Parts: sequence; C-alpha cells; structure tokens
Amino acid sequence: MPHIHPKTTPIYQTSVFTFDDLNELELYFGQPGQSYMYTRYGNPNTDELAQEVNKLESGVGAVVTSSGMSAILAAVLAGCKAGDHVLCAEEIYGGSSTLLAQELTRVGIEVTFVPSAEMYTLDNYVQPTTRLLLAETMSNPLLQVFDIARLAQETKRQSIKLVIDNTFATPILTKPLALGADMVIHSVTKYLSGHSDVTAGVVICKEQEDLQRVQRVMMVYGLNLSPFEGWLASRGLKTLRLRMKQHSSNALQIAQHLQQHPKVEKVWYPGLEEHPQHELAKEQGQGLFGGMLSFRIKDDTEAVNRFMQALPSIPFAPSLAGVNTSISYPLGTSHRALTAEQQQKVGITIGVIRFSVGIEEPEELIAELETALAAV
Ligand SMILES: *Cc1c(COP(=O)(O)O)cnc(C)c1O
Repeated sequence: MPHIHPKTTPIYQTSVFTFDDLNELELYFGQPGQSYMYTRYGNPNTDELAQEVNKLESGVGAVVTSSGMSAILAAVLAGCKAGDHVLCAEEIYGGSSTLLAQELTRVGIEVTFVPSAEMYTLDNYVQPTTRLLLAETMSNPLLQVFDIARLAQETKRQSIKLVIDNTFATPILTKPLALGADMVIHSVTKYLSGHSDVTAGVVICKEQEDLQRVQRVMMVYGLNLSPFEGWLASRGLKTLRLRMKQHSSNALQIAQHLQQHPKVEKVWYPGLEEHPQHELAKEQGQGLFGGMLSFRIKDDTEAVNRFMQALPSIPFAPSLAGVNTSISYPLGTSHRALTAEQQQKVGITIGVIRFSVGIEEPEELIAELETALAAV
C-alpha cells in the first residue's frame, strides 16, 4: 500500500476492527480511545462527529446516537431507573412527550408535564424521586424561548438535572451547558447535519460521570449511529455557522415581510420586537434568532391548501432545518394528537403554517411567498 494522507476522514464502513495479537487486545482495554474494536462501541466517523459537536457545545464529551429520539432516551435512561420521576416542559417536541408519557411510564419512570408559566418555580412539581427536567431552548412551532440560566438556577436549587434539547437554536445561537444545563441533546437530523439526508442524534454532557452513563446506555441498548451517517453529519456540521447566519437573516427578513402582509394575521418569530421573549432571545442567541418561524393566515382549510398549492417550489415536508426552505402544518402533523380544545389553547389553529427557512436568496423566497399569499 502507498502512503495515503486523506484530507478528510474516510468512511470506516466496517462493523468490526482486527487485532494482530493478544497484546493489541490488551492495549484496547488498557488505553481506551487509542484503538477500535466494534462499531457499536465506537467508530472513527461517529467519534469525529461527537468530538466536533462537543467542541461547539463546550462539554466534557458527547455520545452520538441513531436519532434525536435515541439521544433523548439515552439522556433519560442515563440517570433514571424504575421508580424515578422526570419533569418535562409541556411545550415540547411531540416525540419527546410520547416517549416519556407512553413508553417510559411502561417501565416505571413517571413523568409530569410542567406548563410554560411555571417552569422557573418547580416547587409544586418536584418529588423526592425527581431526577431531571427536560426542556427545549425554543419551542415548536410557536418559538417560545426559555431562559436557560434561570431554568438551571431552579434545577440546581431542586437538586435535579437540567437536560436541554437545543435542536432549534444550535450551539451557534445558544450553548446551554455554559448557562448551567447538565446535558444537551440534539436531533442531528436537523440543523447540525443540515441537508435533510441524515437521521442522527447526540448527547453532550457537562460531567464525566453522566458521559460514561450515556455512553454505556448507547452501547448496551444498541443506540449507535452508522459510520456513513456519522460521516455525512460531520460533513454537514462543517458549514453549521455559515448556514445558521443565513437561516437567521433570511428568517428575520421573511418574518418582517409577513408581519406587514394584509393576508397574514400573526407571525411568531423571536427576532420580531413584539415577540414576548425578544430581549431574552437576542441575548441568549448572540443576536441570531434561528431559521424557524410560524404564521397564521385565515383559519380556513381551503385557504391553507390554496397557499400550499400555489407555492412554486417550496415543498410541504413535515421536518425542518434543511438548506432548502420547506413548510409544515402543525395541526395536521406535530400537534395532530391534541384535542381541539388543547389545540385552541396553545394557539395552533387551522391557519397556522410553519416555515423552516433555508439558505436561498431571501428575495427569491419572498417572491415565492407573495405568489402563494396572492392565491389565498
Ligand atoms: C426532530 C426532533 C427530535 C427528534 O429527532 P429525530 O432525529 O427525528 O429522532 C427531537 N427534538 C426536536 C426539537 C426535534 O425537532
């Protein structure tokens, strides 16, 4: 073999690694991190992704998983056993609430959902068995922003851990560990990989003890990511900062445009001054507000259909955070399972459309929106 010096990490598409002899095997166990044995325990591609995300989030280390859901599972199981209790923000990704309320309760982990208004004072919710609070930096789809430093103050006072799902904000806007959170999770599927071609997750820890537990859960439950997905996500991650700047500036322009449009009744975007947490979002997000926004046209299914059908090239896709703009419909997807009363209460009505703003030229996006709104 000639000497090969690749500029980028090759894809180690192998399930297992070989040893020359027993000495090498002993070295593997004696000097962890120096060699590889089995891809479920570790692989250069997933390790590269973990290291790069960990650098961005400033943790002691990170564990990469097969999806955002398995990252949440690993973070919860790392510190909880049957008989324990967890708190979860009421406004949370639907998959997270389903995992906690419908699956983990079956194995004896109890959950209580905390209304947004009560997130900073948990006295009425914490029990002796409570281990953690799970919350998101920004909620979906109405972009409520939580003050992570205040949440951390309260969870410390209650001696429970704070786990933050930082998927919407990304570490380019907000680094929850620096603000006092104990663990951060991401759906790497979204901004971190960024190109709508990977399903992956990650847990970043502040303490070595948590990291070892998360690592163990990942390995023993088999929640690992494949090498190719790790490679793709690492590749996407290299442009995260550039992408987030463009996502954010595009979204701000679009939010401002929609806000003064006669056919738009309401816009939810933390970058708008009338957003209830605008000042917090500005400070906690380094002046960037991310690429997600929602708006409401009239509460009429036909109007929504006409809007979608008239968008020349923006697809309706129930996910988010890709380089290409897409729209989603919370009432029919993420919030479908809520009762009509709950939907009304949170403000997710027939006319609410969510925009995942991409990195195209903003003028193109605005022109496209104009065409679609004219059809409403
Ligand atoms: C998509 C998403 C998840 C779940 O991630 P998957 O990669 O789909 O498993 C969790 N939290 C948030 C905020 C998400 O947007």
